[in-house]
Amino acid sequence: MPQEIPAGQRLDETSGEQGSGYDFSRCKLCAAYAARPKYRLENTTVYACAACDFHFINHLDSLPSEPPDDAAKPLDRKTLDYIEERLPGSEKQLRKNLLLVKRHISLSGAHCLDIGAGAGLFAHLLAEAGAVVQGIEPQGVFREFARQKYGLALNGETIDARHWQQGFTGFFDAVTLWDVFEHVNFPAETLQDAYQVMKPGGWLFLDTPRRDALFYRISEWSYRLSGGANSRLLGSLYSPLPFRHKQMFTLRQLLTLVEKIGFSVAGVHSSFFQPHNRMVLVCRKP
Ligand SMILES: [Zn+2]
Repeated sequence: MPQEIPAGQRLDETSGEQGSGYDFSRCKLCAAYAARPKYRLENTTVYACAACDFHFINHLDSLPSEPPDDAAKPLDRKTLDYIEERLPGSEKQLRKNLLLVKRHISLSGAHCLDIGAGAGLFAHLLAEAGAVVQGIEPQGVFREFARQKYGLALNGETIDARHWQQGFTGFFDAVTLWDVFEHVNFPAETLQDAYQVMKPGGWLFLDTPRRDALFYRISEWSYRLSGGANSRLLGSLYSPLPFRHKQMFTLRQLLTLVEKIGFSVAGVHSSFFQPHNRMVLVCRKP
């Protein structure tokens, strides 16, 4: 049985350090009131937990409990082109991700959920491979792009919504979280919620930047050696803008978390020296 993750305070309607009501001294990973400001960046502050060394910024996104119906307006050509132009960069990676998924599960007829589907490309690739796909994307502009470009109906409700937690308990053969984990308000809760909608034997695939990698170390050294004056490198890793990077895990922290939730780890792909500091986990729900 999965263990309960200490319930993080969820946010429904408000945002930001002032408005959120979230006490950032409470670690978003271990729930201890042991987090303190560690790096003061130009736009945000990185907190570090004295109990578990988790690093996260003092910002949370505003997520309406009911997503606004902003996907109804068709996108103009300029917006479509803008999104389209930015797709090829991720397409290569997402095609690699698809190969990884296919190594573990036969996609024909498999029920798959892509959380943080963005413009819908990965959901589209899954569907092309024969999967029955659903996708979650909180940003209406991307949902509309996916509708117009791929004919996909992405859902704006996040994975903690009743729609998923009550309507799809134990349902999915595979859940994917590509480049999402560092963006969500409460990653431990997101993972717990993903666990709930997966079938026993189901597969979870995720990638996220790795904090205990070379680039982050260099960024920390640069900050410390300059007495905090040079926060540019660290500042490139975090952002208080909506849906940007709020936290970074070490490989050990991520492995501990997935196992605490109840997953077994089937594969880890990462390297300290990887240029993009990316780590990929393949997990299974027993
Ligand atoms: Zn902690």
